[in-house]
Amino acid sequence: MSVLVYVEQVDGKFKKSVFEAVSYAKAVAAQTGTNLSAVAIGNIAENELQELGKYGAEKVLSVTSDELKNFVNQAYAAVITEAAQKEGADVIVLSNSFSGKGLAPRIAVKLKAGLVDGAIELPNLDGGKFLVKKNAFSGKAFAITALTSAVKVIALNPNAFGVKESPVTPVIEAFAPAVQSSDLAAIVKEIVRATDKVSLPDAELVVSAGRGLKGPENWGMIEELAGLLGAATACSKPVSDADWRPHSEHVGQTGIAISPNLYIAIGISGAIQHLAGVSSSKVIVVINKDPEAPFFKVADYGIVGDAFEVVPKLIEALKAH
Ligand code: FAD
Repeated sequence: MSVLVYVEQVDGKFKKSVFEAVSYAKAVAAQTGTNLSAVAIGNIAENELQELGKYGAEKVLSVTSDELKNFVNQAYAAVITEAAQKEGADVIVLSNSFSGKGLAPRIAVKLKAGLVDGAIELPNLDGGKFLVKKNAFSGKAFAITALTSAVKVIALNPNAFGVKESPVTPVIEAFAPAVQSSDLAAIVKEIVRATDKVSLPDAELVVSAGRGLKGPENWGMIEELAGLLGAATACSKPVSDADWRPHSEHVGQTGIAISPNLYIAIGISGAIQHLAGVSSSKVIVVINKDPEAPFFKVADYGIVGDAFEVVPKLIEALKAH
């Protein structure tokens, strides 16, 4: 019996959300008195794999294969399933990232496992149960799911648990899964990144703007503020609908749900559908010229003022430091 965590890589490197998933999986292993193994897919350097030991991974199964170098949903799900069976894992943890959202249900079906996607806390094992908490109804409520199956799959929301060190020296083991050719019907040969900006779902800091910005020509100051903070940029739905910004930046009920440590909302009214995707941010700062804007009700800090005056001042102040 063990806990298995899938460690997703981007260009051979692990993101912070992976270290969070490993930290979470380690805590689950401690709760259940079992060991923690990780499975890494892609051609990842040994020193990068060793990093996983910092967060408690005792063993790392490393799959090196040119066919599996880039993410392929069906094939990766098959590899993780096989790794889980090899390790006799009764809990499989992964990050609820773009790829995690596709993988988790596939793995759960293959292993006949119960699944909680978007977990936000460690399981509660009181009374022999296995209860996992997640956000429900677009962040307006919590759902607590009892996993009663022998094998359980948990997809952890990024930024929900934090990174916790628990250093061990991991054993790195080469793993050659028996992937079926049907799982490799499509393979990704090359990934060309359109931007090297901070990726929105993983971002710890997000600068977001809405229709109050009046037009796409005014996004320069938003980009500059985000650049100075090392933040990702986001926007409200009407902004992406109007093609002022790409759809990949649209957050909310019908866009991406994020939970950064800091969300700065500029010229966004705070409609319920927008809040659905951002209300689990740790700290919310709102800049709006209307003191009655609904966003102020959920803000930790608010500035009532014209974005075209406030944002340049913020930029100036940040540059001065
Ligand atoms: P507005 O509502 O027009 O607000 C602009 C704000 O900017 C106002 O509060 C105004 O006071 C302020 N402002 C204006 N000028 C300035 C200035 N110079 N300085 C500072 N502040 C200024 N929306 C989403 O964002 N995400 C979703 O996922 C989403 N899903 C939806 C799903 C459905 C089914 C529906 C019906 C709607 C959805 N919406 C979504 C739309 C949502 O209801 C709102 O219409 C939208 O969020 C409003 O965007 P906004 O705040 O940018 O614009």
